[in-house]
Amino acid sequence: MSSGSFNPFDMAQAQFDKVADYLELDSASRELLRNPLREYSFSIPVRMDDGAVKVFRGFRVQHNDSRGPCKGGIRFHPQETVDTVRALSMWMTWKCAVVDIPLGGGKGGVICDPHNLSAREQEQICRGWVRQLARNVGPVQDVPAPDVMTSAQHMLWMLDEYEHIHGGKYPGFITGKPLGSGGSLGRTEATGYGVVYTLREALKGMGIDPKDTCASVQGFGNVAQYAIRLYHELGGKVICVSSWDQNDQTSYAFKKADGVDVDALLGVTDRFGGIDKARVKDMGYEILDGDAWIEQDVDILIPAALENQITGDTVQKMSKRVKIVCEGANGPTTPAADKVLEERGVFNIPDFLANAGGVTCSYFEQVQCNMNYFWEHEEVMQKLDNKMTAAFHAVHNLAKKRKLYMRDAAYVIAIDRVAKACRDRGWA
Ligand code: NAD
Repeated sequence: MSSGSFNPFDMAQAQFDKVADYLELDSASRELLRNPLREYSFSIPVRMDDGAVKVFRGFRVQHNDSRGPCKGGIRFHPQETVDTVRALSMWMTWKCAVVDIPLGGGKGGVICDPHNLSAREQEQICRGWVRQLARNVGPVQDVPAPDVMTSAQHMLWMLDEYEHIHGGKYPGFITGKPLGSGGSLGRTEATGYGVVYTLREALKGMGIDPKDTCASVQGFGNVAQYAIRLYHELGGKVICVSSWDQNDQTSYAFKKADGVDVDALLGVTDRFGGIDKARVKDMGYEILDGDAWIEQDVDILIPAALENQITGDTVQKMSKRVKIVCEGANGPTTPAADKVLEERGVFNIPDFLANAGGVTCSYFEQVQCNMNYFWEHEEVMQKLDNKMTAAFHAVHNLAKKRKLYMRDAAYVIAIDRVAKACRDRGWA
């Protein structure tokens, strides 16, 4: 989903080109890596509850699989575009490479709005998506996962359809499955926790105690909720969150100077992460315009909703106090805003590093499915922490050594790994 003239794929390619120049990448590697290897675009006809047939548009983009099967979520969104899916598939390649897991990058989507679809209609979209792609995805080709507005239930419907078509049990086809149906403990909180593992390490490096910090968060969905929980456990205080209001078709920010209460907010939040503004008012929250999350006088900003949120314009509203931008969402910061952050010396923890906890835990889920043996929660979280912490320090050390902006350092590591895998296979 892209807004206005913003094209996330242009942004993903611009980020890539900058680092390809820095790495003096050969022309064949550049050509190969700045575009997806394969793209699928198709129709999904669904008989709706009222008896009429409606046709939905679906996508799957496989950016690169030189290091292992493609991996990436499926998004349901009314403004989904193939360019967004392209960009996200590319970022998945870099994400898997930067945390050094043996997977490539893919992403999928369906143009639809689950707010207005019954469970049966959503099930038919899931099954239709798999029917169109059953021979092009799978445990050794391309492994989907949940993403914006898709859940464990959607994954299980997709798995069921895949297994019907192929006549066997293939729990490694898809991740983010429910517990007891091949899901891994820890997957639900993995992305949000991973965000805060990297934030914790960044603060440590700056000699700052999380207890002395406060933050503002955009979004109150899966990533934001768990990121806030762990950050609060470390002693930090989130004073503002924002979310999309489906009725008003706009976003609002909710401010509480003495810190938001995740459990209380969950009581007034729908399953899409939308906070009910009528009910939250009685709970002592100030209700502000959606953009206000970025204007708060805080040490840390955690964008955890959408791409294209910290732009050349909005970055000007950011408080001078902000020391860290820790990107839970994919693509929240545009290159123009990056320039400003870099000039101001704001420490950026780039999306494909900060939010890699989800795919890392998905990888653990695949490993456990292959073994048919499942780890305890503590073991999953410890392995996740180890992976995220190691990846953060590899990027941070390179950034310090070569005086690079963190995003560029993360790209250098990831692109280097993927380009090498392509060259070793004789693709470039
Ligand atoms: P989600 O659907 O659970 O939550 C999205 C949240 O963003 C909701 O609270 C929604 O109200 C809010 N939102 C939507 N539009 C908004 C707007 N204009 N202003 C303010 N808030 C708005 O999604 P999620 O799983 O938490 O994902 C959030 C971001 O993180 C996305 O960019 C996604 O691609 C990325 N991400 C998610 C995962 C994962 O495991 N869930 C992994 C990696 C990256």
